[in-house]
Amino acid sequence: MHASDESRAEPPPSSSDDAAGPPGTLTLVATPIGNLGDLSPRAAAVLAAADAVLAEDTRVTRKLAQRYGLAPRLVSLRDHNEETMTGRVLAQLAAGERIALVSDAGMPLIADPGYRLVRAAIAAGHRVTCVPGPSAATTALVLSGLPPAPFLFLGFPPPKAAARQARFAELAALERAGLSATLVLYEAPHRLAETLHDLAHTLGEDRPAAVARELTKRFEEVVRGPLGALAARYAGAEVLGEIVVVVGPAEGRAEVSEEELDGRLRAALAEGLSVRDAAERVAAETGAARRAVYARALALKGSGRG
Ligand code: SAM
Repeated sequence: MHASDESRAEPPPSSSDDAAGPPGTLTLVATPIGNLGDLSPRAAAVLAAADAVLAEDTRVTRKLAQRYGLAPRLVSLRDHNEETMTGRVLAQLAAGERIALVSDAGMPLIADPGYRLVRAAIAAGHRVTCVPGPSAATTALVLSGLPPAPFLFLGFPPPKAAARQARFAELAALERAGLSATLVLYEAPHRLAETLHDLAHTLGEDRPAAVARELTKRFEEVVRGPLGALAARYAGAEVLGEIVVVVGPAEGRAEVSEEELDGRLRAALAEGLSVRDAAERVAAETGAARRAVYARALALKGSGRG
């Protein structure tokens, strides 16, 4: 017997009736990210057999179900009602119902609701399983031509410019401290240009990247190039459709700018840290040489600008 066969918990269901698992099972079901043909036969069988299907926008899921001749009992589960729905779903699972969870597209929980429910179901001892399938993040990653591992999925960056730039600055600091991973981000089409601009500004114009648009759909497109070129291409352009941005890994530690070093030192000194402690912390955060950071911290403190 093959090692993976031994570790398999149980054989796959043999009929559509038991597709939704034994009583009290919560099944996370991946759905297509654009091409309705991408629903797997097992996903369809679970939707058909489940006592209830939790869905974000029930109209979206109904349309998908109809395409497969299914009429599941759909119940809305969204970010704003997940907390209250969780108690109700736990009671249904305890009563032996077989519940499926889908999102509007792709893998539930991936930039979509469901995490709180899954965590609660696990804590309550219910069986939780998954019918895996498409996700825009992994589809874009494998099409990007950038290293597939390690990768860091960031979801949507903050929509407001200041918060987004702060998030990217944190990433840049992590990279200076040694993080080297392909980055995967979701973005709305009307924010693509500013996000690419901020990424290029923070992580470097030369970083290889890709913009994946309308994956699995008629107008699927993957544009690859350095961040600076992509930012220029999409600046002021009207972009339509759904988008994933993929950025190749940082190579080695990037130099930290004087401006950023000073900013970090000022913040540390303003917190009341000694020159030595502030320099230690900023050197660790940025990977910059400790002696140089210490000298700069002393100068800032001495000039009264710390
Ligand atoms: N759960 C989904 C998944 O597994 O990919 C993601 C849901 S999230 C609310 C929606 C975002 O995913 C879109 O704004 C876009 O960034 C990305 N996305 C979804 N479908 C896509 C597609 N067909 N092509 C490109 N990006 C897509």
